[in-house]
Amino acid sequence: MAKEKTLDDLFYDTLRDIYYAERKILKALPKMARAASSSELTAAFEKHRDQTEDHVERLQQVFELLGKQARGKTCPAIDGIIEEGEEIIDEFKGMPALDAGLISAAQAVEHYEITRYGTLKRWAEVLGMNEAVRLLDQTLSEEAKTDEDLTGLADASANQMAKAA
Ligand code: FE
Ligand code: FE
Repeated sequence: MAKEKTLDDLFYDTLRDIYYAERKILKALPKMARAASSSELTAAFEKHRDQTEDHVERLQQVFELLGKQARGKTCPAIDGIIEEGEEIIDEFKGMPALDAGLISAAQAVEHYEITRYGTLKRWAEVLGMNEAVRLLDQTLSEEAKTDEDLTGLADASANQMAKAA
């Protein structure tokens, strides 16, 4: 009979999923920063790239708390979301709608992260892992703030610019 799987297994698998995702995002953000046409959007992507380094480190700390090696597990969802972002870069290069498209792609990434961290934080609570709760919540707040900042940039200029002519 197969070993009984419990919340510990779900927590560990999901941790590996978001660890894979964060490292993919770390590589994608510099490309998004280079692609953006407004300097504000470039700066926002660069700032979040730096924060994402902290996210990777915090996840490594959570693996340590579990006494396990930090190891990613392929996440087809984030691969697909990033692929869609790359399509926008290719298809909207030099176009007025580029930044609005990049913001929408980046918000899809943030929302994916928010759902993962929201779940992991609650599971860590149930598992009584207080230090993990603190680490996961810190990252969750930064993802939510980034999502809000991106909405701000879309409202302030990118969407109007995209509308143009
Ligand atoms: Fe992140
Ligand atoms: Fe993020």
